[in-house]
Amino acid sequence: MSPPEADNPPAASEYPESDEVLNTEARFRGIFQNAAIGIALVGRNGQFLEVNDHLCAILGYRPEEMIESTFQDLTHPEDLDKDLEQFELLIRDRIPTYTMEKRYIHKQGHVVWALLTVAMQRRADGSLEYAIALVRDISREKRLANMLELEHRRYKLVSEATQVGIFDYDHQSGAVYFSPVCKHQLGFADRELPGTGMAFFRRVHPDDRKHFAMRVRTYLKRRGILDTELRMIGRYGETHWIRYRVAALLDDRGRLMRSIGTQLDVTEDKKRELELLQSKQAAEEASEAKSRFLANMSHELRTPLNPILALSEMMQEGVESPETVRQFAKLINDAGNHMFELVNQVLDLARIQAGRVRMEPDWIDLPGPFAATVQLMRSQAIRKGLQLQADFSTTHHVQVNCCSQSLRQIAFNLISNAIKFTESGSILIRLRLQPGEGETDLIFSVTDNGPGIALADQKRIFDAFERVDDSLSTQQQGFGLGLSISNRLAEALGGNIQLRSQLGQGSTFTLVVPVPVRWPDSADEPPSDEAPAPAKPGSSTSGCRVLLVEDEPSNQIVARLMLERFGYEVEVASDGFQAIQAVQEDAFDWILMDLKMPGLDGFETTRRIRPLLRNPDRCRIIALTANVTVEARESCERVGMHGFITKPIRFDQLRSLLEG
Ligand code: ADP
Repeated sequence: MSPPEADNPPAASEYPESDEVLNTEARFRGIFQNAAIGIALVGRNGQFLEVNDHLCAILGYRPEEMIESTFQDLTHPEDLDKDLEQFELLIRDRIPTYTMEKRYIHKQGHVVWALLTVAMQRRADGSLEYAIALVRDISREKRLANMLELEHRRYKLVSEATQVGIFDYDHQSGAVYFSPVCKHQLGFADRELPGTGMAFFRRVHPDDRKHFAMRVRTYLKRRGILDTELRMIGRYGETHWIRYRVAALLDDRGRLMRSIGTQLDVTEDKKRELELLQSKQAAEEASEAKSRFLANMSHELRTPLNPILALSEMMQEGVESPETVRQFAKLINDAGNHMFELVNQVLDLARIQAGRVRMEPDWIDLPGPFAATVQLMRSQAIRKGLQLQADFSTTHHVQVNCCSQSLRQIAFNLISNAIKFTESGSILIRLRLQPGEGETDLIFSVTDNGPGIALADQKRIFDAFERVDDSLSTQQQGFGLGLSISNRLAEALGGNIQLRSQLGQGSTFTLVVPVPVRWPDSADEPPSDEAPAPAKPGSSTSGCRVLLVEDEPSNQIVARLMLERFGYEVEVASDGFQAIQAVQEDAFDWILMDLKMPGLDGFETTRRIRPLLRNPDRCRIIALTANVTVEARESCERVGMHGFITKPIRFDQLRSLLEG
């Protein structure tokens, strides 16, 4: 900076001392001193030549302190260069004035924001006399502006950081602002969706528009808060559940100025709500089903108990004729059989439902279990005058890998239903194999010309205790458990049971199960569709000795009576220790071993007596148990038992085991 021609303050003596001049100067001084703005006369080098009180008040210095300093001394270092630059241009007459916002350092050390305007006072010859600086304290405005800026940034940050979209509708101008989050929630980038009310309203789900418009009308009328949930269509056509909460901003006269609101995507909450509702419904349904099941069970169990209890009581009184006693015994036996059947089926169902049925897949020679079941049912059909026609012709010599026991159980249920519900005519049973998806499908169907099943009943009869006609007795109809069990077994095998039926036209139940198959090398002569008849029970049982190991006296009586009827010699051991003693003294052809006994149980007794047997090659040990699980059967095999018979012991079952 080159020094200007005049740096010094104008001395009072330099002014002409006319009245007018004196007046003018006095006026100037008055304005200078009393102005509500800071004023300084500044020399060429920046030194303060004269300052008014207001400027002193702004910067905290006394006038004499300021006169000793330059504006550079009091300027915030960061604003100095810019100020000097402008000042230089002014001196060089490149600019007539300049105005800038700048910071001064107050005497107490804090920053003072000021709006500075500088102009030059030149002499008549154009030389520089002094600079006039007008300084307005704008610290308060600056603070407010900073606060506003901070508020704005905070608001922006909050609206960007949260999942909540914000919008602001100006009712006077119609202008609306939607924060980017409002658009992101619907899958749009900020610039992809116009921020207009209409653009958003168009995305309201068509089914919700009417309701939404109604809510908005009510809000406009009542003001207050609008809180609503509605569906919006997202960028890819997907549905979003959105919650809008809008508040009305009114002016002093209660006029609606703005509507400011939040937009929140509550799709996940809605989904969870729905899931919760569904699981609640499912739980309620399950609980209802359980109650129904218990009611059914109780009914089914009590019904046969009635003849058992009533008739046995009458028999105990002992006044009946032998013929009546025989009749009573028959009725009791029927009721017992009925209960036995129910208990078996309910246990089956419970095991299947609990996922405790273990499938035991093995290679099966077809038509194996199906032919055996037909054979078993044939006499029942004949008794009703029905014909059983079995067609297994395309499956002979083929082996499939599946659980034979389950197939047998399903076949048994479907055929026995067909026999039960058909009054006359024939029942056609077919087995075939058909290429399926990936594996081969084994297809077993039972067609009858019985009453048929109405479409409305076709689904529910696969549920437990569901029967087409509840007015029929369980003797006539069954418990309504067979199809439920069969269907679950089929599902456990990876297949299903299909039903085709029309009322009055008969029914076809079809089991479809995917199975691995081994095809025969050459087509041999197909054997008959019947399974080979079981060997006739051996006629000579005399001299055969049976050790019955059983702790329960009533079971001892029943089993002993049955065995003696078959011609066996029976010795009874009431516990494991007696059994051990008996085998040491005698040789037995059969040992019927109860598994659950106090002291030594059947497993431990078996383990101990096997080394003591006098005729280990001929003696067969058979378990007696009410536990029919696969695990129980395996445990029997592990301790060296040869077979398994379930309680209650049935006459036929026992005979076929001993003589078969
Ligand atoms: P159940 O036969 O022991 O009653 P199911 O579960 O096997 O139990 O059958 C349920 C119901 O389905 C039967 O009670 C009967 O009303 C109907 N149903 C089953 N099979 C047939 C069929 N072949 N013809 C007519 N109705 C049938």
